[in-house]
Parts: sequence; structure tokens; C-alpha cells
Amino acid sequence: MGRCLERALDNIMEHCLQCNSTLTPQEKECFTCGSAVQERNPKPDFGQRFQTAVKFLFIGSAITMVASVFTDLSFIKSFAATVVLFLVKNSADNMCESKKR
Ligand SMILES: [Zn+2]
Repeated sequence: MGRCLERALDNIMEHCLQCNSTLTPQEKECFTCGSAVQERNPKPDFGQRFQTAVKFLFIGSAITMVASVFTDLSFIKSFAATVVLFLVKNSADNMCESKKR
């Protein structure tokens, strides 16, 4: 039990890669040796989730646009939605690309 708790604490606490001293998750630099701390569990990127959501919306509106050709749905409206989503998707892609560099 004690060992389990120790391991759990070990997972929560960050350790310096250089000197293995314990760090708080908030620390970005090792207190002992001053080396930069790598984030072990980066939170899911908001931009990436946004990108995925826009992608699905874009596919949905593209399907609606195709369907509107055969149904009573407004082609202009679904076409406009697809274009807008395409632009949003593009800028989201660019945003994420530039962040990576
Ligand atoms: Zn260190």
C-alpha cells in the first residue's frame, strides 16, 4: 500500500532529468541544477480539438451540400456553410502549423 502511494506520488511529482530532484508540476526549471523541465503530460491542445471539430463540421456540411443537389435543401446555404467552414479549417490548420514551428 505504501509503495503504491509512493508510486502514485511519483507520477504526480515531476523529476528533473538531469539530477533527479523532485519538482512541483508548476516548475518549468529545475530548482537544483537549473535545467529546463520537460512537460511530461501536456494537456490536450485546444487548437487541435478545435481543428478536429471544424474538420467534422466541414465534412458534414460538404455531405449536406452534395445531398442538397438531390433534395429540397438549400444548395446556396449549404454551399456557403461549406465555404465558411473551409476557411475556418484552413486558418485553424495554419494556426496549429505555426505553433509547431
Ligand atoms: Zn535538476
